[in-house]
Amino acid sequence: MQNNETRIGTDDNDIYSIMDSSKKWYRLLKLLDGEHSVRQVYDLYHPQQCLSFDSYRKVLAKLEKIGAVTFLSKPFHELDEYEKRKSDFTLYYGKGVDGEKTVRWLQGLTVAVLGSGVGGCLIALELAELGVGSLKIVDPDIVDLQNLDHQLVYTQEDVGHPKVLALQKHINSRCKKCQVQTSVARIHNVADALAEVNETDWVFCCMDEPPYVAQRIVNRACYIKSIPSLYAFSSRDSAKAFIVDPDITGCADCLLSSEAANGLTQLVAALKKADFSPITPTNAVSAAIEASWIVQKWLQKCIFNTASGGILYRFDFDAMQEDKFVHFQRDSACPTCGRQSPPNNSQRDLWKLISIESQGTNVS
Ligand SMILES: [Zn+2]
Repeated sequence: MQNNETRIGTDDNDIYSIMDSSKKWYRLLKLLDGEHSVRQVYDLYHPQQCLSFDSYRKVLAKLEKIGAVTFLSKPFHELDEYEKRKSDFTLYYGKGVDGEKTVRWLQGLTVAVLGSGVGGCLIALELAELGVGSLKIVDPDIVDLQNLDHQLVYTQEDVGHPKVLALQKHINSRCKKCQVQTSVARIHNVADALAEVNETDWVFCCMDEPPYVAQRIVNRACYIKSIPSLYAFSSRDSAKAFIVDPDITGCADCLLSSEAANGLTQLVAALKKADFSPITPTNAVSAAIEASWIVQKWLQKCIFNTASGGILYRFDFDAMQEDKFVHFQRDSACPTCGRQSPPNNSQRDLWKLISIESQGTNVS
């Protein structure tokens, strides 16, 4: 940057400056192009300056520790998916995570996205863009003209066609390697959900109908199959999400249980009596923010270890920031993951109001 300083990095908060009046480090660092070994770089550089190999390695190790340099297992051009994932690799490496391992993990995943509406269509697209190898998208609905103003994936040509087919076409027009399975099944009960989440590694529940019941059904199916799951919710001012690690964290029913005595049971009872269907007010901007925030939360959980299950996260669209997190525990009276103790009266009333038991489903 200045005559006596070499700066590594271009961001405003991700840089490292070293004093370098003779420019020796500048010349050396320029040789770190991802294609030469540590020894080759030293041999290329050494004739110009007097520096021992040991000192040079110590400096590189120090730079690696602060995320300024990454040691690769092989030259950059030999890494899989090199062209497409070039920036992904460097992003993950830059954040202290093995980029190649992360991309390989994503490629090996099968993720079910249940619901292809406001959040689901963008979440599925972002997962494919991140390199998820296989997606199963499930939604019984047809693209309607009114969807186009906030469901950003769909176009005029898609109107009248099943959402999942339009979404599949859109994803594959960008990510040819992503295998996209589609289903137009409507999930009425746990057996339906089991059929859709079978043989998947992760489930994103982006369904919001019927309220609470849809999430309970998916939660029960994922618990039975021991599949980790993420639940997304939209409201006018905020997005909410939580992640369930089966048998480790509380599940969706545990969260509902904890709110049963705090007015949730009365709210659900009032909503069921009311003669109207609530519509979630949203627009394209909040839809895009919500989807990206949710996928980022998932990355934080799976890759960066900075988010976890058992927490209800909320993102405020007006303040453009996350609110205080609400932790919830496994509930011994939970009808899905507990059953060691009987439910209290509020919980019993709640489970009756949003029952997920139905005929032909022996999974109560
Ligand atoms: Zn539970």
